[in-house]
Amino acid sequence: MKYVYFFGGKEAEGRASLNDLLGGKGANLAEMARIGIPVPPGFTITTDVCNVYRSSDKDYPEEMREQVEEALERVEKVFGAKFGDAQNPLVIAVRSGARVSMPGMMETILNLGLNDASVGGLAKQSGNERFAYRSYKTLLEIYGRVAMKVDKAILEEVLSREKAKRGVTLDTELTAEDLRKMVEELKAKIREVTSSEFPQEPRQQLWQSISAIFESWNSPRAVSYRDINKIPHDWGTAVTVQAMVFGNMGNDSGTGVVFSRNPNNGGKEFFGEFLVNAQGEDIVAGIRTPQDIGELARVLPQCYQELTSVSQRLEQRFKDMQDIEFTIQKGRLWILQTRTGKRTAQAAIKIAVDMTRERLIQGTQALQRIDPVQIEQVLHTTLDPNATKEVVAKGLAASPGTASGKISFDSDEVVELSKSDGDFILVRDETSADDIRGINAARGILTTRGGVTSHAAVVARGMGKCCIVGCQDIHIDREREEFISGNRIFAKGDTITLDGSTGEVLVGEIPTIPPQVTDELKELTVWEDLAKKLRVMANADSGADARIARSFGAEGIGLCRTEHMFFQVDRIDHFRRAILAESKEEKEAALSKLLPMQKADFNAIFSEMEGLPVTIRLLDPPLHEFLPFPYDKQQLKSLAKRLGMSYRRLEEKVLQLREFNPMLGHRGCRLGITSPEIYEMQVRAVMEAAYELIDQGISVFPAIMLPLIAHVEEVKLLKQLVIDTCEQVRKEKQAAEVIPRLGVMIELPIAALIAGELAKLVDFFSFGTNDLTQTTLGISRDDGRTFLPVYLEKGIFASDPFVSLDETGVAELIKIAVERGKKANPQLEVGICGEHGGDPKSVRFFHQIGLDSVSCSPYRVPVARLSASQAALGVGI
Ligand code: ADP
Ligand code: MG
Ligand code: MG
Repeated sequence: MKYVYFFGGKEAEGRASLNDLLGGKGANLAEMARIGIPVPPGFTITTDVCNVYRSSDKDYPEEMREQVEEALERVEKVFGAKFGDAQNPLVIAVRSGARVSMPGMMETILNLGLNDASVGGLAKQSGNERFAYRSYKTLLEIYGRVAMKVDKAILEEVLSREKAKRGVTLDTELTAEDLRKMVEELKAKIREVTSSEFPQEPRQQLWQSISAIFESWNSPRAVSYRDINKIPHDWGTAVTVQAMVFGNMGNDSGTGVVFSRNPNNGGKEFFGEFLVNAQGEDIVAGIRTPQDIGELARVLPQCYQELTSVSQRLEQRFKDMQDIEFTIQKGRLWILQTRTGKRTAQAAIKIAVDMTRERLIQGTQALQRIDPVQIEQVLHTTLDPNATKEVVAKGLAASPGTASGKISFDSDEVVELSKSDGDFILVRDETSADDIRGINAARGILTTRGGVTSHAAVVARGMGKCCIVGCQDIHIDREREEFISGNRIFAKGDTITLDGSTGEVLVGEIPTIPPQVTDELKELTVWEDLAKKLRVMANADSGADARIARSFGAEGIGLCRTEHMFFQVDRIDHFRRAILAESKEEKEAALSKLLPMQKADFNAIFSEMEGLPVTIRLLDPPLHEFLPFPYDKQQLKSLAKRLGMSYRRLEEKVLQLREFNPMLGHRGCRLGITSPEIYEMQVRAVMEAAYELIDQGISVFPAIMLPLIAHVEEVKLLKQLVIDTCEQVRKEKQAAEVIPRLGVMIELPIAALIAGELAKLVDFFSFGTNDLTQTTLGISRDDGRTFLPVYLEKGIFASDPFVSLDETGVAELIKIAVERGKKANPQLEVGICGEHGGDPKSVRFFHQIGLDSVSCSPYRVPVARLSASQAALGVGI
């Protein structure tokens, strides 16, 4: 068995592809040696040994001991020094390294091989006694703690006592003599605590260190890091034994870290910092402030030159942005580590796309390098990281972005005041359908109750509006029109800022940085179009939303909710008149007022979506949502007056329309059956808008969708209504026939089961997964908040079924419907609309079962596009 892999000079037994066996650090050191990058020679003991060691009662295979000896000899030869030699000692480091980077979680022991004799050799060789004793002192400190398990604080106390005695605070102020004394003190302390001597025998130091590093794999912090990051505990760590190089040998020495590109914005520039005359740990310790890497060009120009070229070569080799540790010893550059660099969302996108432009990677690889969730982060405004912030409360981050505005506790007030009085934040315990207009008019929404799928959260996300929910830190006092957080009171009109990405509520107005559809993001869509199979559409109700959606890469509108158009201030009273009408004439008269408005909406959406399909859902919510309830008498009186009807009649009607369970009540296509005039008006508006645009030479592809279908007769009746209305409009226009595509929403289990019957009558299905989840699980999205958190906590649900599609029942119903539907009508197109369309895991499922499209809110279109691409490539989550 081969347990030990040598690297050094230009030779290496390991390579990058042996990452799992040699750990990331060991594999990459070998790869660097292989391509002639200067790394101090050394060898790596495999992760297999770690597992053997841990399972065999802390013993090593005999072969491995021999292989270590052989490799050590090779290191001595390459480096020209001998381990443990008193005159010319080889000083080594023992380093840990797992398959994936676990920064700082395991241990490293530096300066092994020093003892009372060889410290003199190092002093003579370097001509620097101070340096030699400081190195010895460092060894005792680390070795005492890591290999001999002496409490860190005990050793630190020795050092600070000695420093205090001499009246100094920094190591650099100590003389060689001081350091020599400290070494003795440390040895004495180790003896006192452990009743054994610090081993003078270098071989003993080495083996004890190797064991200590293997053991650090199971240190409590390493274990919890793996738990948090879902890293298997049986991977084990490799151990790399390597010659030491010293950055603290004077002003022609130093150490630092560089990134091959800027990890904050992805810019193609050398980025990093270094310290002159310092060892690596000094940078982390933060006692001295490092200098910008640009300074190195001035101080040690040759090293800088070499470092930039190493950085470029490493990028070429590893084909990704690198994070590189280096040390310069007396003007000579050594590379100690290279790995894939961590980066922000923005940088991830820029780097991936830039690398395709540079032909370093393929487009398909670029698509794999970005996390769909990261994309969502870059599409919203963010708070200026340099601004001063005062956090007053924290809730659940429900919809990203930021919003500053004046506090208001009332939706109607927000609607009124926002017209002339600036921006508002709607602060409520919770919101309901009545608040749509208030939410729409507000800059941001803050609720004290509800989870991330509560009404406020869903609506806000759909609108791309910043929202924080479940903020229990604050108490609303409606009477006094203020909210209390801790010992602070915020009154109506006070300005606050919401950070929808963190859930923080902040005092005053905080400056922001705008979102960008960057060139890189646009370029990514080209690669996505090549990879993905799903058409990604958007849920949008206005021309403005449609424009945003298209700029983010939407390939049409999958769901246009027409009712949102009726909620606008100048329209709702017309619609109320239609609802309250006594006669057909009265109803038609009221609806005819709405016709031009609705037509104008469709006109705007069709224009923005020129050449792409636009799917319009006919009216869906129960009518009572358009009437005030609960109401106060005064409010109802003034409404009655506005509508020109008696108070008694209005109140009667409001109460009559009340439903006990509106979700399962008089809604969806049931409205079209009982009040065909509403659907007729809507279809007419769609078709008139379409003909108008076609006249102007704009190509439109309207589709009409019937909500909440539960019976095939519903579809037959309403299909006839659509056909008749279209025919009427065509006659009036005397134009060539335009036939809208017709579809049904599958959002009730029964619709999925009778899909075969339904499919014969329509062109497409659209799964309304929000309602389908509610009706399949029998859980109301809004009421679920009271128990869903407990269900998640107890593991009854692995994830929130309103966020990630339920894969047992809801997924099964979708599969059944697709199968039966396509069997009955092979031309049938199938898609989904609903929150799940923007959830990476759900999108993967939709791809796998062969849906044609998904539709989600505009701001999630890039998430869905990337998820669809990754699903098609078979990569990602
Ligand atoms: P980590 O995985 O925690 O980053 P490392 O193995 O990289 O641990 O070691 C930590 C630090 O120890 C390095 O950043 C470097 O400063 C120092 N170090 C490790 N190996 C050597 C070496 N061969 N020569 C000089 N310094 C070293
Ligand atoms: Mg490191
Ligand atoms: Mg629905």
